[in-house]
Amino acid sequence: MTQPTPPAGRSDPLYLHARQLVLFHGDARIARLQRALRIGHQHATALRDALCGDILEYHAHDASWHIAKGMDMTHDPLVDHKLAQAAEWIGNATCMVVAAGAGMGIDSGLPDFRGDNGFWRAYPALGRQGLRFESIASPQAFEKHPATAWGFYGHRLNLYRATTPHAGFGLLRRWGQRMPQGCFVFTSNVDGHFQKAGYPTARIYECHGSIHRLQCTANCSGEIWPTADLHPQVDEAACLLQSAPPRCPKCGALARPNILMFDDWQWNDARSQQQRMLLDMWLDSAQAPVVIEIGAGRAVATVRRFSQRMQQRGSPLIRINLHEANIHNPHAIEISLGAKEALERIDQHLTGAGNPGQDKSQAD
Ligand SMILES: [Zn+2]
Repeated sequence: MTQPTPPAGRSDPLYLHARQLVLFHGDARIARLQRALRIGHQHATALRDALCGDILEYHAHDASWHIAKGMDMTHDPLVDHKLAQAAEWIGNATCMVVAAGAGMGIDSGLPDFRGDNGFWRAYPALGRQGLRFESIASPQAFEKHPATAWGFYGHRLNLYRATTPHAGFGLLRRWGQRMPQGCFVFTSNVDGHFQKAGYPTARIYECHGSIHRLQCTANCSGEIWPTADLHPQVDEAACLLQSAPPRCPKCGALARPNILMFDDWQWNDARSQQQRMLLDMWLDSAQAPVVIEIGAGRAVATVRRFSQRMQQRGSPLIRINLHEANIHNPHAIEISLGAKEALERIDQHLTGAGNPGQDKSQAD
């Protein structure tokens, strides 16, 4: 029996998947394409031949195939397909974990601290003093320059209070509410914006603490208290606190945000540990929740490590990251878009608005 001739060339429905695989593995062997795409030798050969002149070069002198030099690795021809696939995963999921890093807040208008320049653009006064993010976000800064440290954190507290979380927060919350086992949030952000967007507090783990809580710099009693009464007045041009700094109600020592800082041996993690316990209990009963990782970079990799562990435990992973997505990864859906745009485009697929001509019978 002869197989029907497979569709050759770039109109082949598997073409972009073959392209993704070859770029991810840096390997154009026919056998790998056959295995990964579950196709015959002839079909795989036709796909590889079609990749020639796109991403592959054929070297006739030793009959070898190579990834073309100088090709644009950042363009993702699969992005629409990925958004539709992500919507399908979310639509079919029984539960979901939102794993969010700093990139989640950018679309709400919060500053991007990536790199010294990003940080110093947001805090020019610290740039003039050559103070890096790592030096000001540290317990040592509260010892040596308390007015500057509180100038920085006071400004951030005011900013986070004044900022409205972007529309993506609400979309995620709605998707989670429709799932039988609901949604849990794992975030390294200290801005409290998931709470502000209406997520239940018992379903949020803030692994680096919260700017809306205070602790004693001397850690006298282990107490953590809310910032409700704190209204810092900050000279923004100088990044200096002008009002009285908050004090520990027990011992009178300087208070600091209950945030995990750099080289921070004094962080009181009691509240964060409690949240973590709730997450672990929820995960015990949740069945392979779909993980949507958003704006979590490699620099401070806590969130990424969590989603990788979840993936090892069988969770499907959707990664949304404008700058650090591996768009050729065939083992996850990695989307190189900003948080708000990606979430809104996925939502269009979920509501059917993004895909008017879709024939559901062909969805598989
Ligand atoms: Zn104290």
